[in-house]
Amino acid sequence: MSEIRDVVIVGSGPAGYTAAIYASRAQLNPIIYEGSVTAGGALMNTTEVENFPGFIDGVMGPDLMDSMRKQAKRFGTELITDDIVKMDLSGEIKTLVDGSGNTVKARSIILAMGSAYREIGLVNEKRLSGHGVSWCATCDGFFFRDQEIAVVGGGDSAVEEAMFLTKFASKVVLIHRRDSLRASKIMADRAAANPKIEFMWNNEVIDVLGEAKVTGLKLRNTIDGSQSERSFAALFVAIGHIPRSELIATQITLNSEGYVEVEGRSTRTNISGVFACGDLVDHTYRQAITAAGSGCQAALDAEKFLAHH
Ligand code: NAP
Repeated sequence: MSEIRDVVIVGSGPAGYTAAIYASRAQLNPIIYEGSVTAGGALMNTTEVENFPGFIDGVMGPDLMDSMRKQAKRFGTELITDDIVKMDLSGEIKTLVDGSGNTVKARSIILAMGSAYREIGLVNEKRLSGHGVSWCATCDGFFFRDQEIAVVGGGDSAVEEAMFLTKFASKVVLIHRRDSLRASKIMADRAAANPKIEFMWNNEVIDVLGEAKVTGLKLRNTIDGSQSERSFAALFVAIGHIPRSELIATQITLNSEGYVEVEGRSTRTNISGVFACGDLVDHTYRQAITAAGSGCQAALDAEKFLAHH
């Protein structure tokens, strides 16, 4: 593409799509790179979202993203289901290269790449990924019907995964390194009331056992250091996320945890014409609604920037 676009959005969670809705309604003719396998972002791997305002009875995560996508398209956003693999954010005109080798140039860029699943960091966790180790209950839970499954983590994601897995599993053991959940009270109460969920407090996973597939876990008690082994058919890892900032790490100012730093309450990064929103920036709230809100801010910031340049 030889033309220079006003706005290119990279990433397509609630932040990216909301930025696209606002930018297209502002006649900025945006392109959004949705990602080749990650289109729609983290909500594509969730089930019911109960707290997105406007949906009295809740809405399925993938349906919500599909609606946002269609809304962005309705106002003229150009949707490209590919990744951006290279960015040069220096100078007035930014250059991006996608996974098919196409180049796109733009006056402003909105970064909305979101976050990726955090890994425990065990060698056998990686080796057995797809063979009993998973980060997505809605994708893989079905394979472990009537078996015992472990979920590691103590936040809303872990509780949500555990609840979902009780549909299939004979038992779900939620392994957490402390003695209380970080999850919201409503979610924690629901998990506590579910007879299929057992809590294993003060334990961390130190190895995943099994040759061709997961057969169990090696655990360490975080209070007394004692080690134990227990049989499981699968391990679902739900210990949070890390920002997807690796592509821009050498160009943009990041904080010590890898989140993009923005100026005050704006979405302005340290590079003129480059804005960031959603989970890429937010290490505190990380909700669909806050991500959508910051996507709106990014589009408004980009619009203002373009008007002044
Ligand atoms: P989170 O709130 O950051 O929780 C991560 C959990 O994993 C924590 O309990 C943490 O333990 C544990 N953990 C982190 N690193 C670990 C490691 N290396 N080994 C073992 N445990 C580890 O992440 P999240 O649950 O993914 O939630 C992220 C955000 O999304 C939150 O704001 C949450 O409210 C939101 N969310 C909302 C919903 C919903 O409303 N339906 C659903 C999912 C997520 P510590 O507690 O000891 O730190």
